[in-house]
Amino acid sequence: MPGYEYINKQEKKALMKLFDEGGVLFAHGFDAMRKKYHVREFEQQMNNFFNSNSTLCVSSGTAAIKCALVGLGVKRGDEVITQSFNFIATVEAIYDLGAKPIIIGIDNTLNMCPKQLSESIGPKTKAIIPVHMLGVPAKMKEIIAIGKKNKIPIIEDACEAVGAKYDGRFVGTLCQYGIFSFDFGKNITTGEGGAILSKNKRLDKKVREHHDHGHKNIKGLARGLDRVDSPGFNYRMSELNAVVGKVQLKKLNRIMRENKKRYFALESSLNEINSISLREIPQKCEPSFDTLIFEVKDNKTKQKVLNILNNQKFGTKNLPDAIRWHCSYYWDYFLDKRNNKQAEKTLLKLNSSIAIPILLNRTITEYKILGRSIKNEIGC
Ligand SMILES: *Cc1c(COP(=O)(O)O)cnc(C)c1O
Repeated sequence: MPGYEYINKQEKKALMKLFDEGGVLFAHGFDAMRKKYHVREFEQQMNNFFNSNSTLCVSSGTAAIKCALVGLGVKRGDEVITQSFNFIATVEAIYDLGAKPIIIGIDNTLNMCPKQLSESIGPKTKAIIPVHMLGVPAKMKEIIAIGKKNKIPIIEDACEAVGAKYDGRFVGTLCQYGIFSFDFGKNITTGEGGAILSKNKRLDKKVREHHDHGHKNIKGLARGLDRVDSPGFNYRMSELNAVVGKVQLKKLNRIMRENKKRYFALESSLNEINSISLREIPQKCEPSFDTLIFEVKDNKTKQKVLNILNNQKFGTKNLPDAIRWHCSYYWDYFLDKRNNKQAEKTLLKLNSSIAIPILLNRTITEYKILGRSIKNEIGC
């Protein structure tokens, strides 16, 4: 969430400079007119920061998921497994390729349940997409083991957890592909934008070609003279977005540090309340700490907490306010209900959960006060 809170004159200055250095060009080509290739630089800086083998920037996180699925050869009739607490983009990307989304339930991490994953793999399963929802990594050790055992590749949707770590490594770099989003609501933002991080350089060719009309972008060969082998699309990132992204990336460490202070200021009081259960965080994880989620035991308690949040001018993040966009229960306009048997269970769990956003424009003291107020009201 906080990226947009830290957009300021540094991003503005970088954008102004772009106009002095050749203007707003494509991410590729026009070598004589330009001094810089900002999208390509942003990709390089992400490789360094996240320790990724290769990174490709695209126009959105949704497009990134789709390109990664193309990279894995997912096509009509295939099945791709993802989870019931999610953002609809993941399911849309699967659906858009004519593949069938298989939506399984969540555990107390609110992410993909490994047990259900191993029970849901079938002969048509071509990929698994666990989603690190609201800053907390999924149980990746278990999920990766299941993928390996069944020889099914995994795409990590890390859109909501850019900067979070699992066992010392950044999420998005643990599996075949990792997906980032830089839309307005994410940990760092370029307004709109996304990236595919890849573990295996060999797999990148298909993804790269797909995001750019099938072009191979061969050095020294004029664009258009290359042989296009497969249909692509235009999912390229704009230079404008990359200029902003490079500045934002430099702020990510600070964003995470500041998140963490506020998160623990709030958590220290909530920890002492027996009647709520904090979201489970898998072992050896360092979340991005931009949201704190807990479950309440009844509707009355939920209302009390929501009133406190409202009085202190804190909203909620997605739960419960944007549950329709995040719970598969509501996606019956394009999903078959049978596909979605976990949806009601997930709905119940999410309906009794409250997500408190960690905002950098609110002070650590404000989060301390918020925690104490909740404890005084519902604690025992
Ligand atoms: C934001 C998001 C996406 C895709 O985001 P875009 O808005 O298309 O960049 C995908 N998955 C999850 C979980 C998200 O939160």
